[in-house]
Amino acid sequence: MNKERLVSGLDAMGIAYDQTAIERFEAFHAILDEYNQKMDLTAVLDEDERIDRHDLDSAAPLAKGLLLPRAKVIDVGTGAGFPGMPLLILRPDLEMTFLDALSKRITFLQDALRRLGLTATTLHARAEDAGRMPEHREMYDAAVSRAVASSAVLQELMLPFVRTGGAAIAWKGPGVQEEMTAARRAAFVLGGTVRGIEPAPVPRRDDWAHCLLITDKTGKTPKTYPRKAGTPNKKPLA
Ligand code: SAM
Repeated sequence: MNKERLVSGLDAMGIAYDQTAIERFEAFHAILDEYNQKMDLTAVLDEDERIDRHDLDSAAPLAKGLLLPRAKVIDVGTGAGFPGMPLLILRPDLEMTFLDALSKRITFLQDALRRLGLTATTLHARAEDAGRMPEHREMYDAAVSRAVASSAVLQELMLPFVRTGGAAIAWKGPGVQEEMTAARRAAFVLGGTVRGIEPAPVPRRDDWAHCLLITDKTGKTPKTYPRKAGTPNKKPLA
């Protein structure tokens, strides 16, 4: 791994790290490579691109102070651990839950967490089902999610996990503006209020136009949400 690229990227974003974090990034990349030979975890094989697209992109909320010390965070549709793993590597104080509908990804994450010496919760479930479980419903300071669904659908997958006063943070690209009206309507139904879009530039990648769509949890999510698994995607709110 090109440590210099990672370190200079974090420096440019104004994100603090220690030597242990850099060593864990390096170890995590090696574990990803190992598993990627037997399962489809990431299509990003180029090391420099992996640093930019996975590690630095995932760290964006830390550049903006969006996650308070010891915040309880759930990564909805984490896949190979993005954005949750870079966030936890950089901020081991976070109480992170990794959620995914695919068990093989959860098995990978459990092994990676153990080998990295990190503590977190893993959950093999659909977000629609977990969002109804008392131990997860409205129990989190923040929900984070990248590359899982449209902005309106994400409101239904994320907001049920977030306590009143917390926030849902979705990673988005340049198309986010077209999704804003639907996202605002869906958030309103689910006890949220869209705060807005924060630019989330990745150093050396000026053409990416990545951003974070932030929704504040302003009230309780009605008991009828989330709807049953699959329905949010088939019939998006708004
Ligand atoms: N967030 C990761 C990233 O940015 O690299 C993975 C993105 S991948 C395209 C989408 C992931 O979301 C898959 O691992 C899939 O299993 C998971 N997923 C999609 N819908 C889900 C749902 N309703 N509940 C839980 N996981 C879901």
